[in-house]
Amino acid sequence: MSAAAAPLCVLNRLSKRFGGLQALSDVSLEIRAGSVVGMIGPNGAGKSTVFNLISGIAAPTSGAITFAGRPLSALRPDQIVARGIARTFQNIRLFAFSSALENVMTGQHVRMHATLLDSLVHTPVHRAEERRARERARELLHFVGLEGRAGTLARHLPYGHQRRLEIARALASQPRLLLLDEPAAGMNPREKDDLAALIERIRLDGITVLLIEHDMRLVMALSERIAVLDHGEKIAEGPPEAVRRDPRVIEAYLGAGPHTERQEP
Ligand code: ADP
Ligand code: MG
Repeated sequence: MSAAAAPLCVLNRLSKRFGGLQALSDVSLEIRAGSVVGMIGPNGAGKSTVFNLISGIAAPTSGAITFAGRPLSALRPDQIVARGIARTFQNIRLFAFSSALENVMTGQHVRMHATLLDSLVHTPVHRAEERRARERARELLHFVGLEGRAGTLARHLPYGHQRRLEIARALASQPRLLLLDEPAAGMNPREKDDLAALIERIRLDGITVLLIEHDMRLVMALSERIAVLDHGEKIAEGPPEAVRRDPRVIEAYLGAGPHTERQEP
């Protein structure tokens, strides 16, 4: 396989056991650079666990992850961010009492070069870097549609805005791979449309996206391929149309059949 055709990220037979619970069993997946890959499955299927393994929050019981041709094993979460992987959380994790702008700036630290000493004594190096960081954070707020909210405390933003702020903070680390964990949860239909457009713009910027999402319309519309987890196993993978028709998926996940309206929150 030529280097150009190699996937950006490869999950190779990942398993994860929590005590007596097998949260993931032998899950393999190749994520093509430049694509949006969807990950669906019922609650408890192991989707967020996949994100925790990729982002280094938890270590696999067995199996390996390769990113940009190199293994990720034994790296700390901050080292994984530095390699080019950023994520959002199913349960929003923002600094509630910090402004939107400050929240985005925290995402940039892994890309900054001023030392702690520089920042303590406010050297010119630090001040110039701080100024650039601020400008870049403003650009990111604009990119996610939160211009004009820079000074608002995260806790005062409506829910849908908080989700987009988390995406801006993740983008601030300049990832090549962005992991989005149920980004549309709690959004109204209009916010979901805006989110879909945002994810498409992220992809057009050259960032690969792995998307966990319960909203079938959204994930089907955005994803080049979809992987389906159930009870920790990957039961199907393919283009959205094939996954939608897959009898195992219909049985295990959709329940109601190929029409998924009943799954909509
Ligand atoms: P999903 O995101 O698909 O809803 P999760 O990956 O969050 O599923 O969870 C998969 C299973 O693993 C669930 O049964 C969950 O309770 C369990 N689990 C997840 N994280 C932990 C943990 N840190 N400790 C123990 N069990 C966990
Ligand atoms: Mg989850």
